[in-house]
Amino acid sequence: DDTTWTNRPLGYEPPQIDTSVPHSARVYDYILGGKDNYPPDRAAAEQMLASWPGLQISMRENRKFMHRAVRYLAEQGIDQFLDIGTGIPTSPNLHEIAQGIIPDARVVYVDNDPIVLAHAGARLTGTPAGRIAYIHADMHDPEAILRAPELTDTLDLDRPVALSIIAVLQFVLDDQKAYDLVKQYLQLLAPGSFLAMSTVTIDSSPKPIGSVVAEYTKRGMPARNRTRAEVQPFFDGLQLVEPGVTLVHQWQPLPGTEGDVKDSDVAMYGGVALKA
Ligand code: SAH
Repeated sequence: DDTTWTNRPLGYEPPQIDTSVPHSARVYDYILGGKDNYPPDRAAAEQMLASWPGLQISMRENRKFMHRAVRYLAEQGIDQFLDIGTGIPTSPNLHEIAQGIIPDARVVYVDNDPIVLAHAGARLTGTPAGRIAYIHADMHDPEAILRAPELTDTLDLDRPVALSIIAVLQFVLDDQKAYDLVKQYLQLLAPGSFLAMSTVTIDSSPKPIGSVVAEYTKRGMPARNRTRAEVQPFFDGLQLVEPGVTLVHQWQPLPGTEGDVKDSDVAMYGGVALKA
């Protein structure tokens, strides 16, 4: 196992896992069919699924968007990935997709949830050639993350990197902060790098998804939705890959799967773009 560990994470606080309140990563894990969740997570999830059954479809489609986007990027020759807001490991994880195409692709995972940290060592494991690092850190300090020895030992920042921020930016409530954060990461990456992102929208089913977003916020996980016009600026200055910003299930669907999922069951916009 060649996972690099960080023992002095950025802005480190001793990991404290509070299982008495729901946590977004564990709610997501439960809805995706995982086992790393607790009664308050399951209660929150069941309540949300009751108000909008599409939530499970939407979360699965988000995960499948990640798979297709990473496969696309590896097929473009991208062999370095920086994944911000990794989530509780769910197979296939990003490195399994990338290394399925480029066996020595390298991946740095970043998350600030102690539950993710607890599982990363066992479940996000690399190979001597396809090394992986995990950094327990808050994503709000891109410079510190990109300077971390675990990152610079794993990725060559003189070469292109794919930055993935999938299903995370709904937790950054301030628009300008969210745009600036993505911009800061990209400014520190070489030309030829890519951004792959997705975030929550209620455009496709305003009432029921709106009630799920409100439920997240009410249960101590403040989240917000964005319109397509509010998602577009994440890609300012970049060259969007076809088909642009779409509901995630519409982004380069696998042949023969078009129309399998209803738009109204999907609450995420996603896109992939090149930093020329
Ligand atoms: N990218 C994965 C998981 C999304 S769940 C996927 O799409 O399947 C969102 C993840 O973002 C959670 O694991 C949560 O802990 C993480 N996250 C939220 N805010 C963060 C922050 N400020 N810094 C680092 N990670 C964060």
